[in-house]
Amino acid sequence: MPCEKDNGQFKKILGEKRLDGSGGQWREAISRVSGGDVEKTLSEQAGHYNIERILALISPAAEEYLEEMAQQAHRLTVQRFGRTIRLYAPLYVSSYCENSCLYCGFSRNNQFERRRLTIDEAAAEADIIASEGFTDLLLVSSEDRKFITVDYLCELARRLRGKFSTISAEIYPLSADEYRRLFEAGIEGVTLYQETYDRNVYSRFHPAGPKSDYDSRLDAPNRFAGAGMRQVGIGALLGLNDFRLETLALAEHGHYLMKRYWQSQLSFSFPRLRPANNVSSIQFEHILSGRNLVQMITALRLCFADAGLVLSTREGAKIRDNAVKLGITKMSAGSKTSPGGYSGNIANTGQFEIDDKRTPIQIAEMLKSEGFEPVWKDWERALSKV
Ligand code: SF4
Repeated sequence: MPCEKDNGQFKKILGEKRLDGSGGQWREAISRVSGGDVEKTLSEQAGHYNIERILALISPAAEEYLEEMAQQAHRLTVQRFGRTIRLYAPLYVSSYCENSCLYCGFSRNNQFERRRLTIDEAAAEADIIASEGFTDLLLVSSEDRKFITVDYLCELARRLRGKFSTISAEIYPLSADEYRRLFEAGIEGVTLYQETYDRNVYSRFHPAGPKSDYDSRLDAPNRFAGAGMRQVGIGALLGLNDFRLETLALAEHGHYLMKRYWQSQLSFSFPRLRPANNVSSIQFEHILSGRNLVQMITALRLCFADAGLVLSTREGAKIRDNAVKLGITKMSAGSKTSPGGYSGNIANTGQFEIDDKRTPIQIAEMLKSEGFEPVWKDWERALSKV
């Protein structure tokens, strides 16, 4: 297990490769990729990573080969994961936030009626989620450090761990010791989005609050993987910057984590910007098309055979139905993105608008009709608890 002296190492790698900046040399390299380069890459055995492979697959030239990429990604995913898609549900515990991310409805600058759940209220929401059949729960919190403390999360996890086979979290960055405490309390996975790997773009979209610290965020996956988390998730918020550059940096990050923390399962998520309370879309120059989202998903699958690929209800029904045939392994269903949203007895503002509003049962039916088995339970984990 790598030790804490590795902290900051990925920052060095990213800086040396110039993947944390404007990406001038990479833009040029991407634009030089030819159809022949893509064909050569696609003729190699699929599923392993090097930067030349991801560079070819994420290039504009590769857009002509999306069908071939999709077929290879599907075959590889079925080989590694079978025809299964795991289902999970997010539980939002607070909409108070110390940060002012320009793309988010929970920004501290927005005026709306906020809510945070007591542990009893959060447990009641979790009961509703469990009654829908889910045993894979994702605890989600904005940066509300005074109320959603490590003690709060540990107590909630201890209350819920008998009801769910897997509990994971999407929360603000913590120290290595704090991540260890979460793990001991029953939280076995953490996902944290760098949002963008470009330092300048990062500063523009995160002007204030603790989240303005790019380096601390960049190092957090190293800390939670080092704390023993079984599931280690990363991603970029798609729409803030050129998705091709973000994919290169994200792939390097995944490769770095996979080499050091081979006992954990790495996963990539693909959150695209969504409309949100009081957020103007004018400021986003890099809105990602559905076609480029498909390219990114398949390119990462063809470089990371065993990585989990996660797609949430941010995306609409059509793209999610197609994505299950491209390499996605895990999906949320029936999500509510506001605290208290499942009990539904309060008008509440969500973090962003969800697109796929189908119920969990409808998602399960869709998966079956596409020839996939919806998996509500992490069987591997469940059996290891016996
Ligand atoms: S993205 Fe997260 S940290 Fe930023 S304002 Fe929204 S909830 Fe807060």
